[in-house]
Amino acid sequence: MSFSLFPDRKFQKAEDISPELLRDMGIDLLILDVDNTVAPYKTLTLEPEILDWARRVKSSGVRLYIVSNNKSQRPEVFAKILDIPYIKRAGKPSPRGVREALAITGIDKDRTALVGDQIYTDTIAANLAGVKILLVEPIKFTNPFLAIRYFLELPFRRERKHK
Ligand SMILES: [Mg+2]
Repeated sequence: MSFSLFPDRKFQKAEDISPELLRDMGIDLLILDVDNTVAPYKTLTLEPEILDWARRVKSSGVRLYIVSNNKSQRPEVFAKILDIPYIKRAGKPSPRGVREALAITGIDKDRTALVGDQIYTDTIAANLAGVKILLVEPIKFTNPFLAIRYFLELPFRRERKHK
């Protein structure tokens, strides 16, 4: 397995990852980051666009699974809204949460992708677990730290070169 900080694919937002594309990539399990991927920090609601996207992905036969580092009630609240399982306090960049989702669903890592907004947590966790990483732009910078971190990630926010 080759390790790379570059994402397999890059998108503006999660809703741009179509069920057709997931099918073409052979994805059966899509693991969702929460913070700044499905909702900005702090909110406990989901936008209609994300709800509609998740519904379309699920009805195409792809399983969704939240794997979040968040320690608050947010992962559970969103999992309930979306009617999907979740793991919180996942400790990404550790691959532990992703591996747990693979073990529970029984889906092969080759048929799994993680959608997330951060290189140093999501991309590394996906790589260590051997699943694909679909990088999205953070929904909103709610504090200066997030903007600084984004700046530090910029060199790696391009799709990796496919051999
Ligand atoms: Mg995030």
